[in-house]
Amino acid sequence: MAGLPERVKRLMREDLRELTPYDPAFRETEVNLSANENTWPVSEARLASYVAALERVALYRYPDPLAHELRARIAELHGLAPEQVIVCNGADEGLFNLLLAFSGPGREVVVAPPTFEEYANFAALLAAPVRRVWREERAFTLDEEALAEASCSAALTILCSPNNPTGDVVRPEFVRALHDSTPGIVLVDEAYAEFASPESSVVPLLSSSERLVVARTFSKAFSLAGARLGYLLASPDVVAALASVRQIYSVNAVTQALGLAALEAKDEVDELVAKIIAERGRLCAALGELSRELGVEVFASEANFVLLRLPHASAVRERLADEESVLVRDFSYARGLGGCLRVSVGTPAEDDRFLAGFARILREECAQAS
Ligand SMILES: *Cc1c(COP(=O)(O)O)cnc(C)c1O
Repeated sequence: MAGLPERVKRLMREDLRELTPYDPAFRETEVNLSANENTWPVSEARLASYVAALERVALYRYPDPLAHELRARIAELHGLAPEQVIVCNGADEGLFNLLLAFSGPGREVVVAPPTFEEYANFAALLAAPVRRVWREERAFTLDEEALAEASCSAALTILCSPNNPTGDVVRPEFVRALHDSTPGIVLVDEAYAEFASPESSVVPLLSSSERLVVARTFSKAFSLAGARLGYLLASPDVVAALASVRQIYSVNAVTQALGLAALEAKDEVDELVAKIIAERGRLCAALGELSRELGVEVFASEANFVLLRLPHASAVRERLADEESVLVRDFSYARGLGGCLRVSVGTPAEDDRFLAGFARILREECAQAS
């Protein structure tokens, strides 16, 4: 995307002038498997409960800033105290607020790329230095030793588990050791935790780790990406710090009502998550079939997406959109992710459409090249 016009650049803070507006390269397609949304249908009963909840919202009033009712229900869900929960306008806002409160000029943020780009983007907005401890380039395994060393002087160390886009989880024992050895905050972004094995979550560490923060979201498992609702879990002191830097009304009353209704449907969400996990297995097995014939590498995932490395990745992605109206995410130009595409686990019908188009196009690309 083009840079900003010179006229406006001259008016801006100097270190922000080279930024460009977010461009997810979104295209209108019939099947969108590019953003890790939960595309499975939501039950009539759940939709009806949303409508009923919205009917009770007093739109003329400001929302409850800290969303006390929702916060209490989230705390219950995780076996924590309400003071350990802070809601936010998507987990994204929580991440930004965490960097706002704890990083900044001269206050280093450590990340382990390839990972979610927003961490480094937010650090740039806040003029915080970023230290990148790259994952091993073939299998994307974390360099735990280098991370531990880098975090010794960090204000904030960020891990994503399951990691977007590689799909692997971090060992909770490592998070505990890291927390105990760094003087700073440790964030574990668990946006996809519902799709991972329960033992991989670091939520149980919160009771004994004062500087640990866990990010969660309603955007993925709860099918509410459009409502913008996420939350951070931390010690009461860290939550208080976050509460003092947040925009007071960032989580609107409509979203609070939807969040409460979604939690009421937790059983349905759990059933859906189980189906998505099973579908992920089917998708990976089908892709695995292509590995020998067409050189597709499938990375084991504990999230609702799968990372692939393949020849002609970018061309395959373009043709999938053009010819099959199926959108997946192209990471092949990102550092450390050469040849990689990320595909969200969709419904069986969506995935079948992706698989058929993917195999056909990749076969053609490989034949053409040889
Ligand atoms: C999707 C995602 C989020 C945040 O999602 P919100 O919609 O802002 O709640 C956070 N972290 C990672 C790694 C994600 O992929």
